[in-house]
Amino acid sequence: MAPTATLPSTLGELKRAIASGSFLRRSVKDELRANLLARLRDGQPLFPGVIGYDDTVVPQLVNAILSKHNFILLGLRGQAKTRLLRALTSLLDAEIAVIPGCEIHDDPLAPICGACQSRVAAEGDAMPIVWRDAGRRYVEKLATPDVTIADLIGDVDPIKAAKSGFELGDARTMHYGLLPRANRGIFAINELPDLASKVQVGLFNILQEGDVQIKGYPVRLPLDVVLVFSANPEDYTARGKIITPLKDRIGSEVRTHYPRTREEAISITTQEAWTNRPSAVPIEVPDYIREVVEEIAFQARLDSKVDRRSGVSQRLSITALENVISNAERRAALCAEPMVVPRVSDLYASLPALTGKIELEYEGELKGAEAVARELVRSAVANVFDGYTSHTNLKPVIAGFDQGGTVDSSDTTSAEALLTATAAIAEFDDLLERMGVTASPSAAGRASLADFVLEGLCAMKKISRTEEGRIEGSPTERKARQRDDTRQSDLRAMLEDEGEEPQGPRGRKKYYN
Ligand SMILES: [Zn+2]
Repeated sequence: MAPTATLPSTLGELKRAIASGSFLRRSVKDELRANLLARLRDGQPLFPGVIGYDDTVVPQLVNAILSKHNFILLGLRGQAKTRLLRALTSLLDAEIAVIPGCEIHDDPLAPICGACQSRVAAEGDAMPIVWRDAGRRYVEKLATPDVTIADLIGDVDPIKAAKSGFELGDARTMHYGLLPRANRGIFAINELPDLASKVQVGLFNILQEGDVQIKGYPVRLPLDVVLVFSANPEDYTARGKIITPLKDRIGSEVRTHYPRTREEAISITTQEAWTNRPSAVPIEVPDYIREVVEEIAFQARLDSKVDRRSGVSQRLSITALENVISNAERRAALCAEPMVVPRVSDLYASLPALTGKIELEYEGELKGAEAVARELVRSAVANVFDGYTSHTNLKPVIAGFDQGGTVDSSDTTSAEALLTATAAIAEFDDLLERMGVTASPSAAGRASLADFVLEGLCAMKKISRTEEGRIEGSPTERKARQRDDTRQSDLRAMLEDEGEEPQGPRGRKKYYN
């Protein structure tokens, strides 16, 4: 950003501007606090683009900043922690005055590095100053066990020392790490518990005392920096993962969460997913598709086969929706259709976007990620479909299938072909009318709604789909026969088991727990 003409360009001008009150000189924490209060008074949005935290996370975050705390966001993956931290730069002043060329962006009025101190002494009020904008005052580091003190804080540089004639330990012989380079700004460390305890000690020292020992040399660095962190709550609270003195210096712990309602989740996905695509044919995403996509994440977060400790990121819904639309684009292109409308069945084609985003428990591992994801899709479809049809009589259509009606469909079946096939099922078109969904008047839109009904009835196990993709009824006599088969095989299995089970006294079966 080019400095405007009114910005002071020398130390002397800066001093006069501060004396006249046209510029404020303050610490980063005071700066955040003052700007935040001003924004609250003006009723401006605090964290634009962050959805669903207005009554929970945001007030706590505001209090942490007003209290001038270093703070940590505790939450599972995909809960917008990084986005919140990055948004803090919007609370910084547009620009601050710094000494040109200084690696740690020294304040012209109180430089902490030796080189700048000498420069101010030599040049006085004529010393030029430069302006640094808010976006560059944010430094972020992902903590990993191999991050060293040298990476984070710095190292003494023997060659620099030899050349300059300064002693090792003089800040002028230092090679600065990330934290000093974030001086006069915000330093964010993600996944704090992954940082080695030795490095945590260094971090604590610099926070508390403004100095740190590097290779046995004391280095004084009274930095002006806001430290913000993020972590998985279980890692953070695990004993021994964070050294106690550092934990004590973190003023506030703010817990993030997943969207609480389907509507909030839809808003987030709508904002984040790449759905507004350059396309020769229009793309239209029905509401029920968005609802099912979110419901998958909600179901996954409740499923005992999915590891709750690591959570199910909102990115699951985002990438799933993107893949669902892509599959619809693929179908529309193959069938040369004039309109792209995703179908619920496209979700099965989006399994690759789902399987990588769920960490499985042992039971889930046994079933396999794809089977678990498939099950999640099915229960999400059943849940949403039930919501749409709870006051609708589905029996006539189910009867239509039970009396021999079938529909052959795959994810590349054209809209016309699917509509022709479903129209042949008694009462099917009536049901579409009665569902009260304002389907797009296009064939692709009506086909998508027809597919929603087929997938919904399958998910609720009212009708069934064969391996080959044929959708057919489950007539009562066949259902009964299936039940009989199951009962007989269960009986056989029990008899076989009986022979192997250890027998207790008097031949009674012994149960082990
Ligand atoms: Zn400096």
